[in-house]
Amino acid sequence: MNKQKRLEILQRLRDANPNPTTELEFSTPFELLVAVTLSAQATDVGVNKATRKLFPVANTPEKIIELGLDGLKSYIKTIGLYNSKAENVMKACKMLVEKHNSQVPQSREALEALPGVGRKTANVVLNTAFGWPTIAVDTHIFRVSNRTKFAMGKNVDQVEQKLLKVVPKEFKVDVHHWLILHGRYTCVARKPRCGSCIIEDLCEFKEKTEI
Ligand code: SF4
Repeated sequence: MNKQKRLEILQRLRDANPNPTTELEFSTPFELLVAVTLSAQATDVGVNKATRKLFPVANTPEKIIELGLDGLKSYIKTIGLYNSKAENVMKACKMLVEKHNSQVPQSREALEALPGVGRKTANVVLNTAFGWPTIAVDTHIFRVSNRTKFAMGKNVDQVEQKLLKVVPKEFKVDVHHWLILHGRYTCVARKPRCGSCIIEDLCEFKEKTEI
């Protein structure tokens, strides 16, 4: 895909949604960190349901530690893999208290050193809590980037590197939200909704649908 088309796609996505953000509910960097950690292989809707009850009771590392492992599990047991997620959140909380003055660190290295936090989670936190121009490639971004030929790659790391290279600076902070939302609601996995897609004339997917 050429530069001009990419630019036009980004402009259209921005015009349609000038201030995109995550669908995970959070009000502090710590809440976002917990929500993203819980969201692996789970839906944002499912995570929000659990955190709406958890955060009013415990939304700091100290308060989660006070809840205890079983207490934490009781709030998140509707989320897949909740046992291991609870253990990771608890260990991460202890590390935040011991090493980071109970604050979420604004550093990729420090974030990735927390249990249960990989590159994708670190990218989301740096981007959405702190405004860094990072791009967290999930299944939706991977699919949309390859299908449209906007930024092709064989794995998420390749797509991330390609996106970082081809997306102009002014769009970098928001591009990951636009692509996720586009993949979640329009360019869906099984049958993309090309008939109602705002970038249909620019997308280079060969098997477009009419719906
Ligand atoms: S035209 Fe179809 S394949 Fe292309 S981005 Fe839109 S929904 Fe996805």
